[in-house]
Amino acid sequence: VVTLAKKLHIKTYGCQMNVYDSARMADVLAPVGYAPSADAGGADMVILNTCHIREKAAEKVYSELGRLRLLKAAKEDAGGRMILAVAGCVAQAEGAEILRRAPYVDMVFGPQTYHRLPEMVARASRAGGAVLDTAFPPESKFDHLPAVPGAGERSAFLTIQEGCDRFCTFCVVPYTRGAEFSRPAEQVLDEARRLARDGAVEITLLGQNVNSYHGSAGGGGEWGLGRLIRAVSEIPGIDRIRYTTSHPADVDGALIDAHGHIAALMPFLHLPVQSGSDRVLAAMNRRHTADDYRRLADKLRDARPDIALSSDFIVGFPGETDADFRETLRLVEDVGFAQAYSFKYSARPGTPAAALEVQVPGPVKADRLDALQDLLNSQQRAFNESCVGRALAVLLDRRGRADGQLVGRSPYMQAVHVEDADARFGQVVDLEITAGYANSLAGRAAPPGATAENEKAYA
Ligand code: SF4
Repeated sequence: VVTLAKKLHIKTYGCQMNVYDSARMADVLAPVGYAPSADAGGADMVILNTCHIREKAAEKVYSELGRLRLLKAAKEDAGGRMILAVAGCVAQAEGAEILRRAPYVDMVFGPQTYHRLPEMVARASRAGGAVLDTAFPPESKFDHLPAVPGAGERSAFLTIQEGCDRFCTFCVVPYTRGAEFSRPAEQVLDEARRLARDGAVEITLLGQNVNSYHGSAGGGGEWGLGRLIRAVSEIPGIDRIRYTTSHPADVDGALIDAHGHIAALMPFLHLPVQSGSDRVLAAMNRRHTADDYRRLADKLRDARPDIALSSDFIVGFPGETDADFRETLRLVEDVGFAQAYSFKYSARPGTPAAALEVQVPGPVKADRLDALQDLLNSQQRAFNESCVGRALAVLLDRRGRADGQLVGRSPYMQAVHVEDADARFGQVVDLEITAGYANSLAGRAAPPGATAENEKAYA
């Protein structure tokens, strides 16, 4: 069989929402003849799906474009054509500036317009200039994406919410992803059923502020995230549900209740707090206090005693004093985290915090980050070690480095390695945890029923 497919290479940066978007771009482009390719060299189209969160994000995109320019020229020398596209949050933020600085780019489009890709490709294929589409269109892209089968992954992502109305003063998301938007519940459930039919046993519901979800539901009503999770848990085949990323002020009673009553909802929650100082939280416009967060952690643990919490921290936010930073350490001691991400504050152009004059000196930020990470790492190691001897259900969906080694996720999101398990690839298996390390666990097959016994002890 001769295949006439054009080669599409998508390079994805940043969060899981971008991973989801890249997969949908491939779906949208399949009917017009593009098939995914792992290589940029020789591709007919290369899309950089960019992220604006990291420092100097735009500069990194320009240097990657410089490299791709050579591949594009090589393709042209060979008589072909490579369409070069920049998508995602840097595209949204930079817009026409990309076409000015890198005039060999053919298409620039934001996260809300990729359902129009076939039309953009047709325009870019005609001679006469680049295509720029960074609007926030009135129509939802989700209404225009093809209903393709899942890719067969056992653990699948599903975007249910986008954008954010919270305007934390350090964050670019409200500017790059736009206003908060929730997909209708039935549309989400349709996609979840499709993923399940195609083999997914775990679904991670995604959103920039996922627990602000308020999707329209039948009869003119609206569902929050807790109600939606319940409906997803009723889909045959879906054994594990996760969601990310959440804002503490948007955790409601129904969601806490879901953690207590829905077995498929995994006992792990990434709930960024950013700082333990009320003064800094106010300057960040987080709209909750450190004690609000402590109370919330208590309520979640009342509902689900073994829930593992994860968080994000920013140290050295403008104006953060030593006393403020000590409050952050105190909060970490009080709450206890199973894992966390921590960063030195760095200004994002266009955000209110970037304009603040009281920036914390670099060495002070570095010292604080070291101290915080020491504490968080010791908590993570202690949590991992506390799992030794327990039996945990692990979804083995990745191959390890050694022959026959598989890697999966525990209910608490820890990576778990198991040897000689090749035959169990893609399955949820009960493993007895034999070792706990800084960032992972090791396990071996557990006797039948071991997880049930163990979970009873923790429930
Ligand atoms: S809630 Fe999250 S996405 Fe929204 S502005 Fe704050 S940090 Fe950014």
